Amino acid sequence: MTAEDGVPGDDPVALAQRLVRVDTQNPPGGEEPLARLILRRLRAAGIRAALEPLGEGRANLLAAVGPPSGPHLLFAAHGDTVPVGELPWEHDPLSGDLLEGRLYGRGAADMKGGLAAMVVAIERLAREPRLGGRVSLLVSAGEEVDCVGARAFHARHGMGDVDALVVGEPTGMRVANAHKGALWVEVRCRGRTAHSALPREGVNAVEAVLDAATIIRSRPLPDEDTTLAITRLGGGVRTNVIPDAAFLEVDIRSGTQGGRELWERCEAEIARRRARDPAFRCTTRVLLERRPVFTAPSHPLIALALALTGAGAPVTVPYYTDASVLATDPVPTLILGPGDARQAHRPDEWVAAERLWEAADVYHRLALGYLGGQTPAREGGE
Ligand SMILES: [Zn+2]
Repeated sequence: MTAEDGVPGDDPVALAQRLVRVDTQNPPGGEEPLARLILRRLRAAGIRAALEPLGEGRANLLAAVGPPSGPHLLFAAHGDTVPVGELPWEHDPLSGDLLEGRLYGRGAADMKGGLAAMVVAIERLAREPRLGGRVSLLVSAGEEVDCVGARAFHARHGMGDVDALVVGEPTGMRVANAHKGALWVEVRCRGRTAHSALPREGVNAVEAVLDAATIIRSRPLPDEDTTLAITRLGGGVRTNVIPDAAFLEVDIRSGTQGGRELWERCEAEIARRRARDPAFRCTTRVLLERRPVFTAPSHPLIALALALTGAGAPVTVPYYTDASVLATDPVPTLILGPGDARQAHRPDEWVAAERLWEAADVYHRLALGYLGGQTPAREGGE
């Protein structure tokens, strides 16, 4: 876990510090300077790399090493971070300070540490005399808000030629073969105002939205893994007016299609209620949908990662990633990164420097193992 091969710049910690010092808080993102810094570095190492602009100050970075024949492994890391936030920090969030083996700063864990380790791994792979296939790196913009970078990549390049995907989101170097999907939905109810002393003259939208909440909360969850939470609720005009508008929002997380099906059952019950009660004027709308991701633990990519990290069994991470957008037609996906998810989105976010060395090493060896191990098998027709 040191710079054992002595190549200048082969240090994921120093690189992660530099990346943390580039402000990519999203909104607005501003990932282009970060992508440009990595671009210059990769090109200096003789690696083919390009920026793909996404409008004012924003860009994806794409890089690749190895021959176009053979299997294709895609490393994905996002360049944006969540905002520094309102709570005070002890360490300057854009400092990249290194203290007692911890690198501090916004994005250190989520996920500039993982990004730095992937860049160093790609550089090491470029120095390999024979690669059995191609390794690409996508540094995406916008993951923390709308996955704009991953969506643009998918629209432009597709994933048809990608055999496997590695996402460097924080897992504390545990091997994750799955993450939950998210479904965010809204219920809006309309009514008619009236003086609240004469409630029957109006149609009460707040009471309708409370009924909708009861319907939603009374549907049984399909499995232990699926969660549903009503997270926003609003409406009303003033105390003495029957309200004509109200809304609620729901966040459903699920590792299976069960989350989607749960919401369809809620919608069906809301529709039944609307059909028999003309005063119940509620409509529903999906605000965001991120698919769950799952890869069989026996898949070579997962099995190899387990062997390299010495882990016994893969885990599921509770958050969603760019893989929800990239792996829509299922692509075998591994989520593995040096950050600790508990550090993400918090003040004094940090990542262990030692983990960054470990991650660069595992990404490097994972690619070698996957590309090397797969090449002969492909000729037999997978
Ligand atoms: Zn992240």
